[in-house]
Order: sequence, then structure tokens, then C-alpha cells
Amino acid sequence: MKRIQGWGNAKTDYPVPEPAKQYLEAVLGEPESLQNTPVEDLINRVPPSNLPQHNLIQTDPEDRLRHARGQSLGDWIEMFDGLVDTFPSGVAYPQNNADIRDLMAYASKHSVNLIPYGGGSSVVGHLTPPEKGPLTISVDLARMNQLHDLNTSNLEATFGVGASGPQIESALQEKGFILGHFPQSWEYSTLGGWIVTRSVGQQSYHYGRIEPLFVTGHLETPAGPLDLPRVPKSAAGPDLRHIILGSEARLGILTEATVRIRRLPEEERFYAAFLPDFATGIEAMRQIAQQELPLSMVRLSDSMETETTFQLSGEERLVKIAKTGLNLFGQGKNRCMLIYGLTGNHAKNRLADRQLGSLIRKYNGMLVKFYLGEAWMKKRFLTPYLRNTLWDLGYALDTLETALPWDKLKSGRNTIIDAIGHGLEEENQQVLVFSHISHVYTNGGSMYITYLFRRSSDPHQTLARWQKIKTTASENIVAMGGTITHQHGVGLDHKPFLGAEKGPLGMSIIKDIIQKVDPDTIMNRGKLLDID
Ligand SMILES: Cc1cc2nc3c(=O)[nH]c(=O)nc-3n(C[C@H](O)[C@H](O)[C@H](O)COP(=O)(O)OP(=O)(O)OC[C@H]3O[C@@H](n4cnc5c(N)ncnc54)[C@H](O)[C@@H]3O)c2cc1C
Repeated sequence: MKRIQGWGNAKTDYPVPEPAKQYLEAVLGEPESLQNTPVEDLINRVPPSNLPQHNLIQTDPEDRLRHARGQSLGDWIEMFDGLVDTFPSGVAYPQNNADIRDLMAYASKHSVNLIPYGGGSSVVGHLTPPEKGPLTISVDLARMNQLHDLNTSNLEATFGVGASGPQIESALQEKGFILGHFPQSWEYSTLGGWIVTRSVGQQSYHYGRIEPLFVTGHLETPAGPLDLPRVPKSAAGPDLRHIILGSEARLGILTEATVRIRRLPEEERFYAAFLPDFATGIEAMRQIAQQELPLSMVRLSDSMETETTFQLSGEERLVKIAKTGLNLFGQGKNRCMLIYGLTGNHAKNRLADRQLGSLIRKYNGMLVKFYLGEAWMKKRFLTPYLRNTLWDLGYALDTLETALPWDKLKSGRNTIIDAIGHGLEEENQQVLVFSHISHVYTNGGSMYITYLFRRSSDPHQTLARWQKIKTTASENIVAMGGTITHQHGVGLDHKPFLGAEKGPLGMSIIKDIIQKVDPDTIMNRGKLLDID
């Protein structure tokens, strides 16, 4: 069963080892001892539903609470500390397009707001019911999760959009195929959610972001259905896939999507390397991308993230030995860990590994061909569970991301890290902040930043701390010309910064498209941009 407060399956935990607790205390200060609001109290707060009856809509208070928020830090503070005060008035579980059309007709008739719900893993406030205005129904797409068609000749598969990462991969892999879209939220996030938020998987360097994987789909809009063509490529005017990608439910509900698939690779390996410092690491990453080395992923942690990864690993003895070895080979305290993946046939992988090895050596780096890479791979979907444990210890953790061209990446990262690191100085609170680059292109890369700070016994203060850091970071990102989001989408949290990226004409084009297909504004009101 999925947790109501926090991330993931209630039976899965990621304990923080004792030395790591001491490390966090040394950096952030002793955490306050805090209690979470009991789930029962939250359920009791859900007001009675006053929706007109409909056979697809349930009004059970626990279910409404489960669909009230996503996974942003703001959502967490509200759910754990009892600040949550807006709930969907009902939850619907449609099974087909006719059900969706029925719900849209109901929403238009009764002026109700519909929020599609995929895996609920949004980290930017996509799922929050509006405070004012119409009642909200959460449209949970979990029952629209089947494999509809597998075309092995064209290497395409068509799924219902509620299919989660594990559902998609098990359906494909048992037949010898793979989609290869692995966001860290893979355990719960869904095909529909990935497409409308422009998600990026950890092996995007090989498999591509969701955009090139998305071939075609069926969108139910309030103005009627939209079917995209199923062609390999087209020059027939603007590509309508691109108004669905990133539409964040403002245009309707995507009900079915066809994606590009591949044959399962012959082998897959993950290894690690170390570079002496982050600036050198960035240069190596640029070369990897621009020489188009045939890896399946590459991820470079800065020195603080490298050290924190060591501290949180729970492998005290191993880490001690590793550090001695690394120091001996010239990888001192500024060392940065690089994880890389090899996916394909054996000969291609060997060649890629040799190319990567000589590039790493050219930058005075060192390869580590045992343990670290495989350990990263095995824990990659477990790591988000650390956030639950850290929260219970008294620390709030959040992440944010951007993408910048290579010639701005290093200075841009330093500016953001600096702004976040000093973000709570006025309150005399420390912030632990670190970063990695995990998606690279020939012209630049993404920057993913994680930060932790102490929770306060006053939840409003915890919320204010988060808002302060988030706003400062976002303002800095926009000022340096970075994108406000490389992968998480806009939702509520990035909405104030969208205009800076799109410009006034761009914003009005997006607005016009939304108004054309949703004249009564029944779809995910208030997200992405303001219309009303
Ligand atoms: C631990 C963690 C790790 C993450 N890692 C990554 C990562 O590596 N890469 C990445 O890109 N993102 C990541 N995210 C963010 C998040 O997982 C993605 O944005 C994901 O694409 C959301 O998918 P979902 O199915 O959970 O959508 P939801 O959170 O349920 O919904 C997100 C938005 O999409 C809309 N929506 C969902 N389905 C449909 C549909 N069928 N039709 C129309 N609208 C729809 C919803 O209304 C909402 O506006 C992470 C989040 C968490 C919590």
C-alpha cells in the first residue's frame, strides 16, 4: 500500500546509519524532536462532499486525502504537519474513453474542475485542488493501464496512460523489448504523467527523453477527441505532439499513447569513475556529450554530493578503504564521482568503455570497475525513500533542477549553490546543498540540486524556509537564462517563472490553445499559467 504521508510503499524503508546522523548533525545542527499529524486526524478534516451524484465518482474521505497532494516539499509539509486544507470533492476511476467523456460532460454541466491523477509523483504542485473556485474531482487513471498493442515490426507499443513504470517494463520485457524510460519516480509514475510533464529518465542519454519516445496518442479534450497520426516522421506543419507534451492536463486527458520501444539489450553494466574536481568533471562531461560516446547514462556528482553519498551509504569500513585508495591515486577531497552505464551488445559496450576510460585518464581521473556503479543501479529507485527517514529525523529535503549551456554550467551552478547555501542565513539556519549533472547534450547539460535543512516545530516556519530557498533559487536560475525546469514541469511552483522563458507572445499563444480546447476551464485550473 502506498504511503499517505511521504514517498512510496509503506513496507519499504531506507534507514540512515548512525555515522550519517552524526554527519548531518555536524553540518545542519541538532534536529528538533517533532511529531507528524496522525493520518486519522487528516482524514477527519476532509469535509463532506457536496458533489452532485455520479456513478463513476467516489467520495470516501481517505481516498480524497490520498489524491489531495503530490510530492513537492510544500505538499509534504502540508500532509505531514497538518496544513493540508484543500481536497478533491471526489475521486473517479474511469476505465475507457467513454467514461472520460462522461466525466467531462458532468464537469462542464456542474462547473467542476478535473485533475487527472497518474502516479501522484508530481514535485511542483500539479495536483493541488484550487483554494477558491469550482469543486475538484481527481480523475485517477490507474484502471487505464493495459498494453493495447505491441507492434514488433515497427518497434512500437501502445498502452493505456495509467500504466506505471514497472507495469510497462514487465509487459514489454517478458516479450523481449524495453521502453527504457526510468525516472527516479519510476515505481509509481505513469506514461500519461511522463508525457504531459515532459519527463526525463535516468538513461535518457541512450533511450532519449519522453519526447522522442512518444509517437502518437489519443487526447480527450472538453472540445472533443484529438487523435494524432501514427507516422514515423512528418513535415506536415507544426507537430501537435508538442502541444500535448508539457500540457500538464490543461488541454484534456491523454488516454492512450504509443511509444517507441527497443529490443532488450544483450548486456548492461554500470561503473564508476572519479575526477579530481567538479570543473574538470564538467569538462569531461562536455567531451563525452560532444564526442557522442555511446554510453547509456552518465552522471557527475559534485564533491559535496560525493561525500554525502559516502556518508549515507552505511558502508563505513568500505568507504574508509575507498577514500584511502582514492587519495593514493590523486583523487583528494575535491574528488567527484561519475557513474556511467553501458547498454547494448558486448562489442559496442567494450569499445565505449575503452573510449570512456581513455577520456577519464586524460582528465587525470580514475576508473573504479567494482561495486560503486552496480550499487548505484541497485539502489536507484530506493534512494527516494531516504527522504522519509530524513524527514522523521527532523530534516526537510528538496530538489530542483535546470539546464544550462556548457559555457554557463559551472558558473551557473556556483551561483545557485551559493544562493541556496546562504538562503537561511538570516535565521541562522544551515543548509546542506549539493548537485549533479545527469543529462547531457552536445550544447549543455542539466543541473540537479538537492538541499536539506532543519524542520521547525512551527510548520509555517518550515514552509517559509522552503519558499524562501525555492524562490531565491528560481530567481537566480531565470536571471542567468537557465530553464526554470529541465524535467519536473511547471505546475504551481514554477508558474511565476514561465513567462520569463516563453515571453509575452509565447504565453498568449499557449493561453489561446488552452482556451480553444477548454472554453469553460474545467481542466486542472490554475496550473501551468493563469487564464482566469
Ligand atoms: C522521488 C521522485 C523522483 C522523481 N524523479 C524524476 C525524474 O527522474 N525525472 C523526471 O522527469 N521527473 C521526476 N520526478 C517528477 C515526476 O515523477 C514526474 O513529473 C512524472 O512525470 C509525473 O508522473 P505521474 O504519473 O506521477 O503524474 P502525476 O504526478 O499524477 O501528475 C502530474 C501532472 O500530469 C497530469 N496528468 C497525469 N496523467 C495525465 C494524463 N493521462 N492526461 C493528462 N494529464 C495527466 C496531472 O493532472 C498533473 O497535472 C520525480 C518525482 C519524485 C517524487
